[in-house]
Amino acid sequence: MKYQLIHNGTLIDGNGGDPLPQAAILVRENKIQAVGHKADIPLPNEPVEMIDAQGGYILPGLIDTHVHLLFDGVNLMKAINTPFSLPFYQAIDQMRRTLNAGITSVRDAGGADLGMKQAVEQGLIEGPRMQISISVLTITGGHGDGWLPSGAEINLFPPHPGRPDGRCDGVDEVRKKVREVLRAGAEVIKVCSTGGVLSPTDHPEFTQFSPEELAVIVQEAAYRRGIKVMAHAQGAEGIKNAVRAGIHSIEHGIYLDDEAIELMVEHGTFLVPTLLAPLAVVEIAEATGSMPEWGVRKARETIEIHSESIARAWKAGVKIAMGTDAGVMPHGTNLRELGLMCKVGMSPMDAIVATTKVAAECLGWQDRVGTLAPGKLADVVVVRTDPLADIRSLEQTENIVLVMKDGRIVKNLLASPE
Ligand SMILES: [Zn+2]
Repeated sequence: MKYQLIHNGTLIDGNGGDPLPQAAILVRENKIQAVGHKADIPLPNEPVEMIDAQGGYILPGLIDTHVHLLFDGVNLMKAINTPFSLPFYQAIDQMRRTLNAGITSVRDAGGADLGMKQAVEQGLIEGPRMQISISVLTITGGHGDGWLPSGAEINLFPPHPGRPDGRCDGVDEVRKKVREVLRAGAEVIKVCSTGGVLSPTDHPEFTQFSPEELAVIVQEAAYRRGIKVMAHAQGAEGIKNAVRAGIHSIEHGIYLDDEAIELMVEHGTFLVPTLLAPLAVVEIAEATGSMPEWGVRKARETIEIHSESIARAWKAGVKIAMGTDAGVMPHGTNLRELGLMCKVGMSPMDAIVATTKVAAECLGWQDRVGTLAPGKLADVVVVRTDPLADIRSLEQTENIVLVMKDGRIVKNLLASPE
């Protein structure tokens, strides 16, 4: 039996309570055995590997509930000339950067397939624990349809045998599409209930899928092992349709009106703000000129109203889980989102809870990850700086000095004792 003790740090356990100084965590194999004051933790009569946190802050492994591990940057011209399989190899580095930022679990909102997930699980490559949606369900001409005015189609994740084409219209087709995506290994269903920023032929406020179609998608997913549905939803009407249909999480939530917010509170719907996404689109456009013009225009239009929406939702008590849309921005920069969450009225502790406990609940993984408690998987992060005093210090990946996933150290910048 392998034991490890992470000690000499201040504990921020993900529950939102006061930090605990002089804390330690005893890890047995891949699980947390004990958490608390170091003096209170009974050590086993077996060798224990000591890991000195050097006065840092000990947090649960962080969770990003909205990433696209398979793409890095949105560049249509580049996409046209990229061999089909190259993104899978590029994803190896993207997953590594995600881990290096302290993110040990993700929900992939489209693109990653079962092979990528299994490559991580089998230890072929290092990456975060993944909940995958594989394909994005979209109406014809909707946010997930890669059709361009020329008639050409450019999908950032083109269909392949393990990733069905996401387009479907009408209750019969959407039912079949859910079944196809589940057959391919999806653990969550991703649907676009409105238009979006990075789609050529629509707008964030366009409503997509009818209430009947959304209801069938939710019902069909629920039939199979209680699978949940996440909705790319930006305009108010599409958000409300999604919430009323019983969709589990609203992604982006740019144009939330009061009724949408009330409905979300009532239904217990999660909100995944991705505040970083439109900001990144504008930043990347300014730095590289590689963003399509229509994408940049729509991103600029939305930044302010998006922040206001999220601020009102938070105030009203909507459950917020951290998610970034990483892939739109470079993987590994995910934790910029926490600084943006604080700008819309969350405290640093609120932002951390949204990235740990609440994010785990959003994935339905609260029994396994999200807080530091006995019996949970040993996903642990040590931060050199105090994130409660300076939330933006998390953006510097070198401040994430230790990352443990499943009891295994996957990043270690702590100086060795000698
Ligand atoms: Zn996304």
